[in-house]
Amino acid sequence: MERGDDGISQQELAKSLGLSTRELAVVIKKLIEKKMITKKAIRENGKSVIKLFAIRTIEESNIRINLVSIENIPCFSCKLLFKCDNGAHVNPSSCTKLSSWILSLV
Ligand code: SF4
Repeated sequence: MERGDDGISQQELAKSLGLSTRELAVVIKKLIEKKMITKKAIRENGKSVIKLFAIRTIEESNIRINLVSIENIPCFSCKLLFKCDNGAHVNPSSCTKLSSWILSLV
């Protein structure tokens, strides 16, 4: 994972971990099966090189969003929420509660 988008060659990884290429091949096979890493052929200095890349987990790609700014939006407690839609009789464009709330932000 430390190598990010650059990846690492199998030989380089074997050397840095002090493993034989045979031992590493077994580990790599298991990690690929578990979808934790992937192998890709990339061009480096005009040569095609096979490199290993860590697959980022969903947990790592979670994005934290602060909802404080919208916690008081009237739609969250509106009785008409499920009838409200663009083009419907009840709609956000003509809603006075929503307009007032938006104007209160400015
Ligand atoms: S836009 Fe108005 S009517 Fe529609 S859900 Fe929000 S508060 Fe309710």
